[in-house]
Formats: sequence, C-alpha cells, structure tokens
Amino acid sequence: MPTAENKDKQLLWQPVEQFPGVGSAMGRALKRLRLEKAVDLLFYFPRRYEDFLEIVPLAQLQEGKLAEVIGTIREIDQHVADSGRHVLYLLVEEAKHYLRVVFFNQPFLVQKFQRGQRVLLRGTPQSRGGRMQMVQPRFQILDPQQPVPTGRILPVYGLTEGLKQRQLRWLLERAVDRLVGLIDEAFPMALRQQLELLDIQSALRQIHFPETREQAEAARRRLAFQELFILQLALATRRHRLQQNPTAPTIVMTPQIRDRIVGRLPFKLTESQTVAIEEIARDMARSVPMNRLLHGDVGSGKTAVAFAAMLNCVAAGYQAVLMAPTEILAQQHTQTMSHWLLNSRVRLESWTGSTSHRHQLAERIAAGQIDIVIGTQAIIQGALKFKNLGLAVIDEQHKFGVNQRALLKRLADRDPHYLVMTATPIPRTISMTVFGDLDVSTLIRPDHLKPLVHTYLGTPENREKWWAFVRKKLHEGRQAYVIAPRVAAEGGETSPGSAVSNAEQLYESLVHGPLEAFRVDLLHGRLSAEEKETALRGFALGKTQVLVATSVVEVGIDVPNATVMTIESAERFGLSQLHQLRGRVGRGHHPGFVCAFSTSDDAADNQRLQAFAEIQDGFQLAEIDLQLRGPGNLFSAEQTGFPPLRIADLTNDQGLLETSRQSATDLIAADPELVLPEHLRLRELMTARYGKYLELSAVG
Ligand code: ADP
Ligand code: MG
Repeated sequence: MPTAENKDKQLLWQPVEQFPGVGSAMGRALKRLRLEKAVDLLFYFPRRYEDFLEIVPLAQLQEGKLAEVIGTIREIDQHVADSGRHVLYLLVEEAKHYLRVVFFNQPFLVQKFQRGQRVLLRGTPQSRGGRMQMVQPRFQILDPQQPVPTGRILPVYGLTEGLKQRQLRWLLERAVDRLVGLIDEAFPMALRQQLELLDIQSALRQIHFPETREQAEAARRRLAFQELFILQLALATRRHRLQQNPTAPTIVMTPQIRDRIVGRLPFKLTESQTVAIEEIARDMARSVPMNRLLHGDVGSGKTAVAFAAMLNCVAAGYQAVLMAPTEILAQQHTQTMSHWLLNSRVRLESWTGSTSHRHQLAERIAAGQIDIVIGTQAIIQGALKFKNLGLAVIDEQHKFGVNQRALLKRLADRDPHYLVMTATPIPRTISMTVFGDLDVSTLIRPDHLKPLVHTYLGTPENREKWWAFVRKKLHEGRQAYVIAPRVAAEGGETSPGSAVSNAEQLYESLVHGPLEAFRVDLLHGRLSAEEKETALRGFALGKTQVLVATSVVEVGIDVPNATVMTIESAERFGLSQLHQLRGRVGRGHHPGFVCAFSTSDDAADNQRLQAFAEIQDGFQLAEIDLQLRGPGNLFSAEQTGFPPLRIADLTNDQGLLETSRQSATDLIAADPELVLPEHLRLRELMTARYGKYLELSAVG
C-alpha cells in the first residue's frame, strides 16, 4: 500500500529534469554529468570548497599577507603600457577605504566588470604609493540578489557546458533541502558507533554545505567509508560464494612431483618463487577454486611459477591453459615452456588468432588429447571446450579485467583454478580494491636476477651524443629499441625540430638520420598479426638491429641481446609503463642503457621522470605513480571493468580502506547473504553498484 512516506520516496527516483526548477535544458546538462535521477544530485559531491571564513575589512589589510576582501568597484581603467603590456585597473572601495587591483595581459577581463559591482578578491596586498594594491588576485563577482557569503563554505562542483557553478549550488541547496530527509541509513547503528561515523543525512547535508572544514571532513569520511565498505562487501560476498562452490578438481602436489617439475627448470628457484609455488599448490589441493594473483617486478620469474602450477595440474591428469595479452607473448611462452618440456610426454599446443587447423586442434583439446594450451584471448573468444580443465593462468592481468574469470566458464563445465599474473607491481590499496577478491602471492626479484640498467634523462643538447652512444653499442653487436608513445602523427604536429612522438615518423627520421647505417624495422599495434610476427622474429634473430616501436613491446618481449633503449616523449608514459619498457633491456649478460627524452616543462611530468631515472624498484615506482597520477591511471576503469570510486581516494584513504575491508569481512562471516533486516539496505546498495560487475545476483 502506498503510504505517504513511500510516495515521498518516489521523489528520489524521479527523473532529474522533473525535479522542481530543473527543466529540460538544465536536465540535459545534468545528464551529461551522469545525473539521471533526483537522488543522484545528492551524490554529486563537491570537488572542493571555497571558504569565506576570513574576510578582512579593507581597513585592516596588511601588506604581504594573503587575504580575502569584499568591496564595490568604483572605477575601471585600462591601457596599454609602453612595453606593450595590457593593464587593467580596478578601484575597489569598502567603507571609504580603497584597494587598487591590477590585471596584466587579460584584455577580455574588462568585459566582466562593471562599476557598482561587488567583488570578492583573494590575493596578497602590497603598498604602492601609499595605497594598497593586489596584483592578479583571484576574484569572484558577487550576485547582488544573494547575501554576501561571509562566514560560509561553498561547494565547488565539477561543471559541464551549459551549467554554471551558481546554478548547481542553487540546485543542490534545494535538493538537500527536499531530499536528504528521505534517504535511509544503510549502516547498522553498532557499526556507526564503533567507527564514529556520521549518520547519512548529516553526512549528505555537510558534504554539500558544511559550516566548518571539520564538518566537511567528517562528512567526507562517512561517505568515503561507505563507498569503500560497499565495494568490500561485494568482494567479500564474491569470495564467500566462491568458497561455497567446491567445484574445482583437488590437485595435490607431492614432493616427488614437485621435484620432477623443478628439475625441468634450467635454474634454481628463488626463495619467493618457491613460496609462490607452495601457496599455489596449497590452493589447488582444495576443491574451492583457487583465485590468486601473482605479482612481481619485470623479470622476477613468474613464468617458471606458472609452469610449475600447470605441470602439476597435468601430472594430476587435468588440462591447463595459459593466456597472454599479445600473440608475441603467447609465442614466447610457448617456446619457453616447450623448451622446458623437451623429451617429456606432455602435449603442448598454442592457440592464437593465427592458428591454422583450428578445427582439428579444438577436437583434440575437447577430447583431452592436449595437456597444455597457450594462447591469446582468442582462446575464450572461440568456442573452445576443454575435456577437463584444471587450471587457467592469465598473464599480464592488468590488460584484461576483472570479468575474465566469468568468461572462463565457457571453457569448461567445472570451475578451473585461476591464477592471474602481472608485472605491474600492485600497491596494496589497489590489490585490496580492484583485485580485492583475489589472494595475493608476491615475487621479489633477488639480486642475481636484477638487470643492470642505467637510466638517463635526455635533453635536446645531449641528443647527438646519445645517438653516437647507440651507434657504438650497435657496432659492438648489441641491439636497440626506440620507443614512441603513438603509432602515427596527429594533426598539426610536425613542426620542424620538435620531438617526434609517433613511431612512423620516428622511423623515417632515424633511417635517414642517425641510424641510417643500420638495419631498422618498425613494430606497432596497427600492423597485422603476421607483420608484427615478422618484425619481432627479425629482431629476435638479430636480423634487425634496431626496432622502432610503440609500447606493444611493453609486455614481456625477451631479446637478451637488446641492451639499449631510447624513449621519445617519455612524459606521455606512466611510471609503471616506463618501468615495464625498461624491463626489455638488460636481460642478458650485458648491462642495459635507457635514455628517456622529454620536452615537457610540467612539474609533475618531471617528477615522474626523475623517479624513473633514480629508482629501479617496480613496487616503489608503482606507489609513486599512484601518488602522482591516481589509481585511474594505473588501472583505468576500462582495464579493470570496475566503476571508478567517486569520493574515496586510494592514495590517502588507506586507513579507511583497511577498516572497511575488515568490517566487511566480519559482516559477511556473520551474515553471508545479508539477509538480516538491519543489513537489507547494505545489500541493496551493494547489488545496485556492483551486481553486474561481480556477478552478484540480487537474490540471497
Ligand atoms: P617475468 O616475471 O617478467 O615474467 P620471466 O618469467 O620472463 O619474468 O623471467 C625472466 C628471466 O629470468 C627469464 O629469462 C627466466 O628464464 C629467468 N629466471 C626465472 N627464474 C629464475 C631463477 N630462479 N634463476 C635464474 N633465472 C631465472
Ligand atoms: Mg612474464
């Protein structure tokens, strides 16, 4: 029966354009911000705040001290100085005290000001000729209809075309007023008290219109916690359900099997490889499907760990599959593992986009006549069926996404064990969120596996010297990579003398320039699989001396004789990516040399490149990348398949994240399907946000 309260609640779910005062034009603008329902307005949080807490009367301005003032424009004057500079003067008055305001070189500004307008100015006053003056202050023209916002903190929202800050503030004030009272608390009282969290209604009011900074922070904490907690609930639910689902084969690694497998490797395992193999063996011995992430720096030896897991699976009579993000990498894995399996009875085949005799091969896989299949994503895209798949390994997971596991269901009737590997070391905050439903094994690269790579930051002045160095190394018999961020030129790019940031032009300029005496080839993602294969094979065999490439070489290419790498427009790469690229050299007996060129004068870019030159440890670099660029750049939503976080900040909210994870785990242990009445709201929030990403059906 529709009660008054229910009817009110419908206000929350009405289309945003029907909310009083919105209308169709504003509604369209709001939709561009992904605000569809009235309730979405409440959850459109301010980016930051402007506060008007310390407005200083003009009479009390102090020279050299940053201040905010409010006054009325009395005079406007502009002229062009002898130097050619455009100068705009305002004279601002408050209670018969005056302030001069100066703007340089912004001729368009004059249109914004009118005599009699009230303005808010923020700047550092200087005394000039007995009068206070502010140069280039930040300013805001005050609305004469609105009271002066003294003593208030105002939200600053992200805008879109056709939507002004003033309109959004006005709208949010009304939305908060009418809708906040309709929002139900989702958190049980006990949890809120234990963690000292604000109630939802206060939090929503205070996030938009706080009276103090403390109020804003308390609100942010509550809402960030909620966001992280809902995510952790979804992950905990998923973990729990997987464990209720003992469908995977139990595969025990006996000491004999272990020794036989390890005996096939041409080296002694490192300590962390040994530990990882044990962790995996323990998981696979259970009928709950393994769900494990193996991460470790470039060259930390993940392939050998995967090999051990796969061979163990085969020894128990099951099939194993390994998927890599590129054909090149799949081929390399096939070669490596075939080599390790020489003279064994294990039947290994590769399956990629260019595999011939697919039909026949598919039949043998379905009949269980192949033990190990190595390939690309083509494996899950085709209608391949395994007879008895025991283990699926995904290499370089960050190129795939969280939904991969669901796709694997197509390959077999039972859930296989699942191992994902990535050479992008994953900061803990990320492994707890984006990969939060996985157990984690970490490979540490021991000293004897550390490639020796010298990294330099190039400048236009030492470019010639660097090419001379590259030529010297080539003459010594080594090979070189030259990396560009893009394949082809973008419009209007080729001003002479500027750095070339696309592989095609770079190739042209090198073969007609510094590297004309050498055999140079080009590799990028737009080539056909066959062309890529040819380019790569030529380089691997040493027929080509220099490979000009995009970041397609980033993942896993192994050519030990290649020891020199030039990275053009390096500022366009993320730190982790640069580090991955660097991992391509210094793999053999010779030391590696990397020179990263950049023309950027952006401070953050330079900080990143400096870190790249100074730090060799991938884990440390990943943390720095996270700090500098945020999680979206390390693992974009499209890479991970997760909706982005809206208010929690993985670089600063690590404490909240740990707490939310613990609380969520406890809650799911106590009420796995969230069926208790006090948990119903939580379940709704969880399924609404993550249901489709994590295959959590709405039913308990
Ligand atoms: P990644 O973790 O980047 O995938 P790989 O598995 O390709 O690293 O290993 C990098 C190189 O180190 C390979 O040439 C591999 O044969 C070698 N390697 C791996 N483990 C060891 C080890 N324990 N001792 C010596 N070399 C090893
Ligand atoms: Mg690898």
